[in-house]
Amino acid sequence: MALDFGSGLKNAFRKLAGMGSIDKAAVEEIVREVQRTLLTSDVDVKLVSELSARIRKKAEDKPPAGMTLKENFLKILYDELVSFLGESPGEVELKPQKILVCGLFGSGKTTSIGKVAKWFKTRGLSVGVVAGDTHRPAAQTQLQQLADALSIPCYKEGGKPEEIARGALKAKESVLIFDTAGRDALDKELARELKEMGQIIKPDEVLLVIPADLGQAARRQAEEFNRLVGITGIVVTKLDGTAKGGGALAAAAVSGAKVKFIGVGEKPQDLELYDPKRFVSKLIGYGDLQGLIEKAKQSGLEGAAEKIAEGKYTLNEFYEQINSMQGMGSLSKITEMIPGLSAAKLPKGMLEVQEAKMKKWKFIIQSMTPYEKENPEEIKSTRISRIAKGSGTTETDVRDLLKHYKQSKKVMKLAGGGKGLKRGPLANLAKQLGFG
Ligand code: GDP
Ligand code: MG
Repeated sequence: MALDFGSGLKNAFRKLAGMGSIDKAAVEEIVREVQRTLLTSDVDVKLVSELSARIRKKAEDKPPAGMTLKENFLKILYDELVSFLGESPGEVELKPQKILVCGLFGSGKTTSIGKVAKWFKTRGLSVGVVAGDTHRPAAQTQLQQLADALSIPCYKEGGKPEEIARGALKAKESVLIFDTAGRDALDKELARELKEMGQIIKPDEVLLVIPADLGQAARRQAEEFNRLVGITGIVVTKLDGTAKGGGALAAAAVSGAKVKFIGVGEKPQDLELYDPKRFVSKLIGYGDLQGLIEKAKQSGLEGAAEKIAEGKYTLNEFYEQINSMQGMGSLSKITEMIPGLSAAKLPKGMLEVQEAKMKKWKFIIQSMTPYEKENPEEIKSTRISRIAKGSGTTETDVRDLLKHYKQSKKVMKLAGGGKGLKRGPLANLAKQLGFG
């Protein structure tokens, strides 16, 4: 049975979700299932056995307070898979820069250059591409066509790649992306050419393009190219159609180079910033729920929820909640993580307005005295006008905040105390925002 990476993991998680309780045998069954999937996806055997050992060991620990054995095991699996596939998301700075793109024949260099160019262009930077692949006859035309479609210049004047690169360095665009020739293998000629291109361009980023179907061989390739030109990141392409995607990502992770982008199709828009958390969440079919549960825990939202359950809900708790929500990312992201809710269902612009309000509310609460924060009902006209002045807002803003605090308090009282996602902090949060 050759399951692909995604369906294999999804099956394992589904199996786990269907289990009533978790004992040693259940843990073993799931670990085996994950192992099978990883090995089928061409992940290195040694890496798989190390991962399994870590999962087994962690599963022996007592779950943290408030978490069932099953929830805890789910989280262990999720965390371990995320760290296995790269830990932190690929960061790409939106600033002027020169990017050199390298990789073997057919890995998806030129296509990825079109995608990355579009990515920067949509984010407001001027972009130019440089056709430095003179090895394959049609390569320059291919890049030119991609550039035309994006209405950006494609520089290709000069004979040798080195001359073309030199000429392009005078271009006025903020982001310049240099294509290079590939070979069937990293041979001497390619090595020399890349080195020279590196010396001439002095790139800020060197992206290595690796197709997902390379599987675990991605590690060696990343290491080789790194030794040669010092890569700063990897683009894993063709993740839309291969069972070996997991192998390539895991291999890239151990090579020490970060995966920055992933290619998920042939079209210019089929590019994503790589984020292992998102990636794993998507694979296992939980949306971003897992990430949210975790973030809610880290951000102290649960702490606030506890106090509220004890009956305490002042502006301090309200403030803490606003803070945690902001810590979790934009509201539109949060709503996507709550089952049954998506930003698309909400009136347009509502989330932006709400986010701006939350920012204001924080300033307002910061301008209050400790007494006022503890006793919001005492905040009357003169205090309101002082707080408005102190926080650089209006009296209407302050009244608006107080109104929301009161509504929120009502909701919290109604919803407080419940455990689990349906009635827990997430649902409270949704209600509080008026979505529940
Ligand atoms: P290069 O030789 O490294 O420049 O590779 P190309 O950019 O010419 O791409 C080789 C082939 O891979 C082309 O047919 C592309 O359409 C295809 N390709 C590139 N990236 C992706 C991807 O993310 N998904 C899919 N399905 N195909 C891709
Ligand atoms: Mg090419």
